[in-house]
Amino acid sequence: MPAESKRNLNKKINCSNQQKILQILAKEYPQVTTLLKYSSPFELLLAVILSAQTTDKQVNKVTEKLFKIIKEPRDVLQLGPARLEKMIKGCGLYRQKSRQILETSRLLCIKFDGRVPQTRAELLELPGVGRKTANVVLSVAFDIPAFAVDTHVQRVSRRLGLSKGKNALAVEKEICSLVPAALWKKTHRRLIAHGRQVCRARNPLCDSCPFSSYCPTAGKE
Ligand code: SF4
Repeated sequence: MPAESKRNLNKKINCSNQQKILQILAKEYPQVTTLLKYSSPFELLLAVILSAQTTDKQVNKVTEKLFKIIKEPRDVLQLGPARLEKMIKGCGLYRQKSRQILETSRLLCIKFDGRVPQTRAELLELPGVGRKTANVVLSVAFDIPAFAVDTHVQRVSRRLGLSKGKNALAVEKEICSLVPAALWKKTHRRLIAHGRQVCRARNPLCDSCPFSSYCPTAGKE
């Protein structure tokens, strides 16, 4: 078979494999919502900032008390750095996170009339808000199609052969071209769920993984 035809055939096989994987993903993880507890876009924004390098469970523990006092950005400014640090200490990196939350709240008050903006460009102006956080806020708080790539999404996408991307942005672009925009939010949650429950960073459970027949890295990680 000529090299070009062989390449096209491989591409076709890869595409159908990826679609099969996406189908299984939807079947295995039908209902997926964020585990972070929040009742407004501002609370979600704070919860996502606090979630860096800690578990959603731990964030919820901290925000359960925090959100009784803080409802909007000006409440953060009134609380001040010392009390804020004390309240979020359980989330780790609390000095850095406290600074980010204070500076973000200040900017929201000054520039956005105390509201969380609804465009990625504006969200990225906020201290402590990177592309992943902006995409989570857009998709979860405002239902605006965006695909957030965290460490689980990046690892699982690469292992499953859904992406060859070497960084988060490359993975985001590849998945967004593979999956319809209406499914970006769900696909993000599903890949996280699979990464937490089965395709863990260390010792992935390939033997009991529903993707083992389709996954190009099954048993190799
Ligand atoms: S087969 Fe293994 S490497 Fe592939 S997705 Fe499943 S757990 Fe991850």
